[in-house]
Amino acid sequence: MRIAIVGSGPSGFYAAQSLLASHPTARIDLLERLPTPYGLVRGGVAPDHQKIKRVVKTYAKTAADPRVRWFGNIELGRDVTIDELLARYDQVVLAVGAQSARKLGIPGEDLRGVFTATEFVAWYNAHPQFQDRAFPLHVKDVVVVGVGNVAMDVARILLASRSHLAGTDITAAALDDLTDGKRTRVHVLGRRGPAQAAFTPKELREIAELEGVDVRTRANEVELDPLSAAWLAEHGTKADHDNVAFVKECAGAREERESGEMWLRFCTQPVEILGEEGKVAGVRVERTEIIERNGGLSARGTGETEVLPAGLVLEAVGYRMIALPGVPFDAKRGVVPHVDGAVIDGESRVPDLFVVGWAKRGPSGLIGTNKGDSAATVATMLELGVVRPAEGPDPEGWLLERQPMLVRWEDWERLDELERVRGAEVGKVREKFTSVQQMLAEIDCLDPNCDEVR
Ligand code: NAP
Repeated sequence: MRIAIVGSGPSGFYAAQSLLASHPTARIDLLERLPTPYGLVRGGVAPDHQKIKRVVKTYAKTAADPRVRWFGNIELGRDVTIDELLARYDQVVLAVGAQSARKLGIPGEDLRGVFTATEFVAWYNAHPQFQDRAFPLHVKDVVVVGVGNVAMDVARILLASRSHLAGTDITAAALDDLTDGKRTRVHVLGRRGPAQAAFTPKELREIAELEGVDVRTRANEVELDPLSAAWLAEHGTKADHDNVAFVKECAGAREERESGEMWLRFCTQPVEILGEEGKVAGVRVERTEIIERNGGLSARGTGETEVLPAGLVLEAVGYRMIALPGVPFDAKRGVVPHVDGAVIDGESRVPDLFVVGWAKRGPSGLIGTNKGDSAATVATMLELGVVRPAEGPDPEGWLLERQPMLVRWEDWERLDELERVRGAEVGKVREKFTSVQQMLAEIDCLDPNCDEVR
């Protein structure tokens, strides 16, 4: 029984773990488009959240299992098609995540200096595809749109001191660019109220605990409206209550700080990004009120506006999956349509094709959420069995034909070691490679016949 898992982030590794546990005869190939594994744990989790990254130890154990092979630098759509994979593997699992970002869809988004938070995060985390972005970081005001954990991550990284980031695995270029600027104020915009904030209390408190940084809120924006107060009392989690209590504390008078402040705004939605000579200069925001809509609480504009200064705008309003060639896509929800993890095309099931993680349920939840989610898809895989068994020999030779610069797990282990050594030389956890070419050169893989010469 041969199974291909496309993508080697948390959901891909959890699918492999679950398959190994429940399907002893399974042989698993993890296919990854980058020469590095771990998806958002490497490219998304903030550099100052090293504890969270320790989860990769369990993924490395999975990769070391003799029933598992990991192949890097091979991309679905570029090097292989989904039909080709389905012909060579008994079952295929898509664990491709959500590689793009949602946009606001307001005027001014195309101005220079407007980015998605996804791009910013990928840049400081060394993702090779985002190293060419030039963020204007030497500005006084930054506007971050959205109040989820990604917004908290980027606000914290923007406000953190050099000493806070210096020992982490942030790239050398990002460390320099981020910590020698004049930026002092980060305005973070929530279109609804504090009871509806999507961040977790720990993430907000971490910002308040940064040296020399204040978190500020406006008293009139953190006072709950009657609908939110009733919702909080009836349905609010401990995290919701903690968030509301904390943002109220932040509304009091504070002493001026030297290094930075975060203005956490609520009931404030962006309506237009304003520019000067093609460059962002501010954001027109509108005060909102909370109303009931479709059984939930929504924001409705009141018409009252103000302009916030901004030299950089980061939109942190959620990730979005990119459609894959030949794979059904629900454009409205931005996911692969499925029933219990089995991919469907209209009413009918695509034989032997499955989906896990953000590509399955949308961009929500923490890393651990993927464990149960992947296990649920694996249960479906076992229940449905194989419809069209694979044909032909072991696909490894074919993969190598399609991508002569195929990267193996031993290659990644070498890159991993090299990154740690480079980091140790400058007092960091690791200094990541930032280009695919550089990585391939390090593992002697740039010669197209590399597999024969190694
Ligand atoms: P998220 O949690 O869904 O938050 C998105 C935010 O954008 C919400 O505040 C949402 O407000 C707002 N938003 C959406 N559309 C908007 C619009 N048109 N105008 C203004 N605001 C808008 O997404 P995320 O922050 O990208 O995080 C994704 C997942 O990764 C989450 O589950 C998160 O917890 C997780 N994550 C965790 C960590 C961590 O544990 N440290 C770090 C990063 C990410 P509404 O609620 O009003 O829609």
